[in-house]
Amino acid sequence: LPAAADLATRFPLTANAAPAGEDAYSAVMDNLSFGVSFTDHMARATWTPREGWHGHRVEAFGPLTLSPAAAVLHYGQEIFEGLKAYRHADGSVWTFRPGFNAARFNASARRLAMPELPEEDFVASLAALVAADARWVPSVPGSSLYLRPFAIATEPFLGVRSAHQVEYLLIASPVGPYFAHGFEPVAIWVAEDYHRVGPGGMGAAKTGGNYAASLLPQQEAYEKGFEQVCFLDAATGTHLEELGGMNVFAVGADGTVRTPSLTGTILEGGTRGSILQLLRESGRKVSEETINLAELLEQIRSGEVSEMFACGTAAVITPIGRLAGSGFDVTVADGRPGAVTSGLYAELTDIQYGVRPDTHDWMYRL
Ligand code: PMP
Repeated sequence: LPAAADLATRFPLTANAAPAGEDAYSAVMDNLSFGVSFTDHMARATWTPREGWHGHRVEAFGPLTLSPAAAVLHYGQEIFEGLKAYRHADGSVWTFRPGFNAARFNASARRLAMPELPEEDFVASLAALVAADARWVPSVPGSSLYLRPFAIATEPFLGVRSAHQVEYLLIASPVGPYFAHGFEPVAIWVAEDYHRVGPGGMGAAKTGGNYAASLLPQQEAYEKGFEQVCFLDAATGTHLEELGGMNVFAVGADGTVRTPSLTGTILEGGTRGSILQLLRESGRKVSEETINLAELLEQIRSGEVSEMFACGTAAVITPIGRLAGSGFDVTVADGRPGAVTSGLYAELTDIQYGVRPDTHDWMYRL
């Protein structure tokens, strides 16, 4: 990829926002949570079949003007991504594997019959927005600027077909840790009555509808005292797929690490892929395979499985301390974070925050 400063010129700053005042700025930055506050600007571009992508710009963050007939509001033609900008000790700002997210965005675009955005435009929007809103990249440990690229079908048309007008937008939110309790094990409810996706559906795409399908099971699990839901495959209901917004891993007492394979019904996480690579390089036995729920429960009970964790950009790596569903409730080992989970968390965040050398060329300077 070209340098960020060169790419950023693709999204010129057309309308400078009146910057948030000192008080409003401090209120956000001194009390970081997840996804509640946004920076001064947003990046955007428009697509039509005749003109292709045009109107690339950075402008003040604010409400969109949208026809009530815009296709996205009726048929959910939408895709999104999530990545972070990290501030390093020397003040520089970096992001993690933006090329991966650009490629996944385009894979989602294909599934939703939406136009692909060139990788360089995708990364250029990140560079331009972070340049305009650099002061919003926090520097306290575990914090970052969460970047949310998305595209919506804006064509005012109620016929059911792929829209002829699409808007790409990028917004950003300064964030602290995803879970208020930090690196603490979470309790997971395994959903047996609900599925988020099915074979041939949109599970491998990052699109709003998949998350809409997860909200009721998530709410019911929360009411039972669980933080997250693990979904099972819709075809057989026998094996683990992923959580609502994270991939899942199981670590054996013999050191082998397993994660569900990419069957087309789960989202391929960038964190998942990076963890697999780090583990393989360290000489550990890893496998992408079908993880049968009944077998897994037996292995947790017998101690054969000694750690479980979930992973994704927002929450990085989250230990799973407890797994329950109708008719079972098991604690993974002693319910505390295991050594493999803690080690991976340290290794990955050290790379992202520039504490360890980036030997994989995963980091891109914004
Ligand atoms: N699965 C789902 C359903 C997700 O929403 C996410 C978050 N993007 C992930 C897995 C993890 O993906 P990543 O590691 O790229 O953030």
